[in-house]
Amino acid sequence: MSFSLFPDVKRKKVTELTPRLLAELGVELLILDVDNTIAPYGTLTLDRAVTDWAAAVKAGGVGLYIVSNNKGERPEVFAKLLGVPYIKRAGKPSPRGIRQALSLAGIPPERAALAGDQIYTDTIAANLAGVKMLLVEPIRFSNPFLAIRYGLELPFRREKRKGV
Ligand SMILES: [Mg+2]
Repeated sequence: MSFSLFPDVKRKKVTELTPRLLAELGVELLILDVDNTIAPYGTLTLDRAVTDWAAAVKAGGVGLYIVSNNKGERPEVFAKLLGVPYIKRAGKPSPRGIRQALSLAGIPPERAALAGDQIYTDTIAANLAGVKMLLVEPIRFSNPFLAIRYGLELPFRREKRKGV
């Protein structure tokens, strides 16, 4: 539960966070970022690969919970598609939304993880909340700002201080 910009685990896609990996990490609740983690910006559908992955994770006994900074309809739309609860306007890098999800799910932070694509929101929030941070690559840079921000994240993406 401290300020850190480094993730615990890095993978290319959220679908690479397999039930086996989650079991090895002792994760019982996987908190999901929305934008550029489970779907690119601007869409209201999920790839079949993502819905199949989510079903496999749930079948493995891991709970899913969407915690998104998004203020629009997407967190709710995707939560319904996946059949999971959600918190929107989560205010990451504040750990508030993550802590709320942990409390509502009744899971302590050491048995939870956040899957997200960003350093300066997701990773800081996960580390402050004391959950493991599973960093994925953003699905798509839909505008130049996202690519610039990604560039500013690279020092922390390259190094795996606590890495698996
Ligand atoms: Mg995101």
